Amino acid sequence: MKATDVLEVFRAEVSRSSAETKIAQAAQRLFRTQEQEAENGKTKFTTWNTRAMAMFLKPLSDAYLAAAKRAKGDIDANTLATAAKAHAMDLAEALNQTTGEWVKEGREGTFDESRAVGVGLTEASRVENNVTKLSAQSRGKSLKWVAERNACPECRSLHGKKLVPGKSFVTKSGTAVEAPPLHPNCRCIVKEA
Ligand SMILES: [Zn+2]
Repeated sequence: MKATDVLEVFRAEVSRSSAETKIAQAAQRLFRTQEQEAENGKTKFTTWNTRAMAMFLKPLSDAYLAAAKRAKGDIDANTLATAAKAHAMDLAEALNQTTGEWVKEGREGTFDESRAVGVGLTEASRVENNVTKLSAQSRGKSLKWVAERNACPECRSLHGKKLVPGKSFVTKSGTAVEAPPLHPNCRCIVKEA
């Protein structure tokens, strides 16, 4: 998806849920801080993992709670808190790593709003799918991958695949994930099956 398309999707969807917005805002705050440091010559941001994690913990925890309320299954509070914390840390590590690489490459758009918006959309989708996975797990149900309509070949190769929650879906090129998103801006979902 192009950056402009991402912005459009985002603006069309913000009214539906604020999780995307809150996560995007946290990303934007992180990127602004990174940008200032990058201007001072900093290129290694992985030293900020704990700090970045703290920025994402609140919006992600809220998103997990909201998604769990809508879910069919009964997910206990500890499981949710653990999932939110792990998600926040993974996200912090991934963003700091990528920012460092992009700063070294001198890549454009590293600190742009569209990148933050993409993070909001992708991570809110990850929350939804993780909660569907935990919910299915609590009910002893299977999970089925439902690819988005214009899915990439990798995602399409998973369409309709079923498995026990906690096991990984493996794409035709060998990438393994327990639930979507498979890549930034992936719009695939999992459903109970
Ligand atoms: Zn996908």
